[in-house]
Amino acid sequence: MAGNGDEDDLVGASAAVAALTDQQLLRYSRQIILPDIDEAGQQRLLQSRVLVLGLGGLGSPVTTYLAGAGVGQLVLVDPDTVEVSNLHRQILHRTTSIGIAKTESARTSLEALNPEVEIVTHTCRLSGDELLDAVRAADVVVDGTDNFESRFELNRACVALRTPLIYGAVVGMEGQASVFRADRDDSPCYACLYPDLAGQPEAGRPSSNWENCSGQGVLGPVAGIVGCIQATEALKVLLGIETNLVGRLLLVDARTMEFHWFQLKKSPSCEACGAPTGS
Ligand SMILES: [Zn+2]
Repeated sequence: MAGNGDEDDLVGASAAVAALTDQQLLRYSRQIILPDIDEAGQQRLLQSRVLVLGLGGLGSPVTTYLAGAGVGQLVLVDPDTVEVSNLHRQILHRTTSIGIAKTESARTSLEALNPEVEIVTHTCRLSGDELLDAVRAADVVVDGTDNFESRFELNRACVALRTPLIYGAVVGMEGQASVFRADRDDSPCYACLYPDLAGQPEAGRPSSNWENCSGQGVLGPVAGIVGCIQATEALKVLLGIETNLVGRLLLVDARTMEFHWFQLKKSPSCEACGAPTGS
């Protein structure tokens, strides 16, 4: 299963595969027992491919739960190496991994968790045609990056290829998350959320608290909360479970532990999804 997550394709692909093995029935038993998943849903997950950009505070819980759930292939993208200052929140990585690529550190962690999952790594910042190829091959994309340039480019690729994008961001003790269903005509996209920033060149953009946490600081588990929301939503998209995070921005305030909704509307003038781009 690959491409744009067409429901009929998913069902057809599930019907064509072999039955779950005894080991798979045992490993995934606590989720197979859920009526929303069952053996057919587990088969879907095993045949799915998820692209995860960023293996930091968000990507750590995202990839850990997706590997645990038995997503068939995880494509991991991150250009950085593990630093000691990452470790309070980036729970994929260990002190012994300092200095090695985050992609390889993640591979070690995730293969130890679930050897059944195929791990593909890109130790670079994917862009241009390489990014488009990776998005095209994915059923769902999870954004765990930490800068507007990467987020806007990833969003444009997902809109162009109509691939669902699971968004999350965190700073301080606050987080936000949303699901951009680019495969649906009525779904807003990431650029609809930040219209004032989307059309501007990187150098001209005003700074935002939501750009990254390296300068602002972040409480480790808050990244975990938002990353777990992203992992949950990614699994729901793969399983065909409806979500009300489409067209909504979830705001998490961990200081008060209050969750709020912010309604998002698709913008007719959006630079990414508002008009045919033709290119
Ligand atoms: Zn848009």
